[in-house]
Amino acid sequence: MNYLFELEPPSLPIQGMDPRFPINRVFCVGRNYEDHAREMGADPGREAPFFFSKPASAVFMPNKHVPYPPRTDDLHHEVELVVALGQGGRGLAPEQAREAVYGYGVGVDLTRRDLQLEAKQRGRPWDVAKGFDASGPVSPLIRREATGWLQQGRIALSVNGELRQEGNLSSMIWAVDEIIAELSTYYTLQPGDVIFTGTPAGVSAVIPGDEIVAGIEGVGRLSFTMT
Ligand code: MN
Repeated sequence: MNYLFELEPPSLPIQGMDPRFPINRVFCVGRNYEDHAREMGADPGREAPFFFSKPASAVFMPNKHVPYPPRTDDLHHEVELVVALGQGGRGLAPEQAREAVYGYGVGVDLTRRDLQLEAKQRGRPWDVAKGFDASGPVSPLIRREATGWLQQGRIALSVNGELRQEGNLSSMIWAVDEIIAELSTYYTLQPGDVIFTGTPAGVSAVIPGDEIVAGIEGVGRLSFTMT
């Protein structure tokens, strides 16, 4: 194949492995923890979680710094378990969904909350609120064969040493296998697809200079400074 110019796929490093994980598509789950759904003004008993996307190019492993994006005055952090698929398929059963998981990472779904609120009010898409450049920093991936099937574990994020978000993976409304099974009814999933699985309560604003540390028990740690 001959292309006009070279384009490398976005990718993430894998703990203890030389090859990188190439990223195909990036799906995100909205309102997958009850306490976060409530803080966003929704009723988790009446509304199921849902999906939105980021471009693959938004995902990267930061080298200490993440740029504060333009066109916002209210950038929020959302710490999330990131799931990387090594296999695809459609109409997957939960057991097949578990087999499709290659590994996990710690991600932050950075959100221009002011633009998201405006989009919600006007019934417009979320792309500029969620899919901007560098909106998906993620830690190096850890392979599923090293972690086993993840069902619980503390997930937390602090800003300048102050704890802002804390929860447990066991509190997800849709567990990871249910997310993948549900997603595979909308899309034929492919190796390289990546899923942000939703955030617990405590989302709040960050400003340039803030130091962010995010971690998930058994998965890893992600730290960066907004600049
Ligand atoms: Mn999110």
